[in-house]
Amino acid sequence: MAIVAIIGRPNVGKSTLFNRLVGSRDAIVNEFSGVTRDRHYGKSEWNGKEFTIIDTGGYVTGSDDVFEKEIRNQVSHALDEADMIIFVVDTADGLTDLDKEVANIIRPHSKNIVLASNKADNSEREMMSAEFYQLGMGQVFPISAINGSGTGDLLDEVVERLPEEAPKEESEFPKIAVVGRPNAGKSSFINQLTGQDRNIVTPVAGTTRDSINTHFNAYGFEFDFVDTAGLRKKSKVHEDLEFYSTLRTIKSIEESDVCILMIDATVGFNVQDVTIFSLIQRNKKGVVILINKWDLVENKTTNSIKEYEESIRERIAPFVDVPMVFVSVKDKQRLLKALDITLKVYENKNQKIRTSELNEFFLPLIDRYPPPATKGKFIKIKYVTMLPKPFPAFAFFANLPQYIKDPYKRFLENKLREQYDFTGIPVVISIKKK
Ligand code: GDP
Ligand code: GDP
Repeated sequence: MAIVAIIGRPNVGKSTLFNRLVGSRDAIVNEFSGVTRDRHYGKSEWNGKEFTIIDTGGYVTGSDDVFEKEIRNQVSHALDEADMIIFVVDTADGLTDLDKEVANIIRPHSKNIVLASNKADNSEREMMSAEFYQLGMGQVFPISAINGSGTGDLLDEVVERLPEEAPKEESEFPKIAVVGRPNAGKSSFINQLTGQDRNIVTPVAGTTRDSINTHFNAYGFEFDFVDTAGLRKKSKVHEDLEFYSTLRTIKSIEESDVCILMIDATVGFNVQDVTIFSLIQRNKKGVVILINKWDLVENKTTNSIKEYEESIRERIAPFVDVPMVFVSVKDKQRLLKALDITLKVYENKNQKIRTSELNEFFLPLIDRYPPPATKGKFIKIKYVTMLPKPFPAFAFFANLPQYIKDPYKRFLENKLREQYDFTGIPVVISIKKK
């Protein structure tokens, strides 16, 4: 999926624009607290084209020197990672030196840049936006992020210039992404599995720009590792590493079927792991948690694994039906078991259950434990069916869907998980009007 980044100096309205573009659609929005400021990432769609949008954030003012350096950084990262850039300036402030500075950096890439003159809330302001033609960045799009005017024209232009979607790859093997914080052991894992014998692996093109997957075929397993190039050549040292490694993670998750979330046993499952986990979940991908460097954990008792698992489940609740494997990449312990479970999760994700079978299972159960009557009305679920989606999604048809609340949906989901193996897979339960 194409990436559109919003850049510009602080206070020009980047996050307001971000919020407007992402809107209230069923968007995946994540916030990262970076060193400097929160960043946002979400999905947007215009004229039938979907894209990922990033608010690269502004920087808290420091000394002018630091400030300029940070703007340079922000811009160069955006140029590295994004397919299109929306360069936002502030009509009310008019043209500033910093705008000119940014324009000078990005001008060589102007075919991928759209200039938005924000805060053009009325026609007088719209006229003022003409000033920004001086930047020599082509057409100026006067917009108001606050009231929305002009944003349609802006998006027309952005979408028009987005690269065509890469043709869907031939390879129909399971796509496995290895994600996790730096130093968890991700590249060691891949190298351990693939590095010894060159015959095991072949590079295959990924579906996103500059990603290279690795086709793996050994020990009875055949699948593609997503974006191994990014893992192997340690990414350029970015000062803003955290955000950009997260961006890579996002791309890998989107491209995968199942994610291996690797953590370092000596560090534990922390906030960033929770963020990655929820990204996987919200993208509806399968997940297996590998607790690596188990060799380094001292004084292990028979209970250590159980306790460790429990502590992780507490953090990932309510989606706790997730396999965990304790491995040591260094000592090659349980690596094949990890692959085995990962591919089982892939199967779980793709299982299709016939409507007749689902109804035979659910209808008697619902009869026995019906949704609680609300406002004196009986709620009846008539039938259930699996929806044709790339992830398991179930629709229950009811007379009064609005009265069926989350606890009852959770009950349905739990029963589903008891009956079928959806371990490692987020399932979606929706209630529809019969
Ligand atoms: P950022 O630092 O570039 O992300 O800027 P923000 O989105 O935080 O906006 C900075 C300020 O500008 C806030 O007070 C916004 O309410 C205001 N603002 C953003 N967009 C508009 C707009 O289109 N018109 C006006 N009048 N104010 C805006
Ligand atoms: P990445 O940033 O997630 O790709 O992590 P690396 O694969 O570069 O590994 C980070 C460090 O952890 C390296 O020094 C590895 O040698 C070490 N490491 C990886 N796996 C293990 C393991 O299972 N046990 C021990 N003791 N060290 C490991």
